[in-house]
Amino acid sequence: MNAQSKPPIVRKVRKDRRVQGPTDDTYRSRGKLPEPTVCPTCGAVYHDGRWTWAERPAGAHEETCPACHRTHDRYPAGFVTVSGPFFETHREEIVSLARNEESAAKAEHPLRRIMAIEEHPDRLVITTTDTHLPRGIGEALSRAYHGTLDLKYAEDQRLVRVAWAR
Ligand SMILES: [Zn+2]
Repeated sequence: MNAQSKPPIVRKVRKDRRVQGPTDDTYRSRGKLPEPTVCPTCGAVYHDGRWTWAERPAGAHEETCPACHRTHDRYPAGFVTVSGPFFETHREEIVSLARNEESAAKAEHPLRRIMAIEEHPDRLVITTTDTHLPRGIGEALSRAYHGTLDLKYAEDQRLVRVAWAR
């Protein structure tokens, strides 16, 4: 058998697809959504290729936005862990600062949201629906209170873990 007699390999088929859970692609808008599309859960409107807070157009198609989809599946794209002695005596201020940061981000980018804030005795874990908000929250905490900030991105940039401590 020589090289010329072999047909070119045009495509590899993966047969060992064992991962059945949601993948990050689950939460990306697959191809083009019809426009306009409205998320029935949060009311975000997909228009000109992005999710916005535009008013609901008449006759809009309905499809759950990626942020609501992740929230429903409890599948965060980002984590912010907050800890330290200063945190323990300033929990309320820190939570409200994180919420303010979310409000500012979400006003401009509907998919940037806090999914949940888990309260633990020694730390908070804030989960988010996107990978930008955790950094925004971490940087806001650093600006306000200094402390130490650590950012870790997954290799494919689809998951971010931020840790702030003081
Ligand atoms: Zn939504």
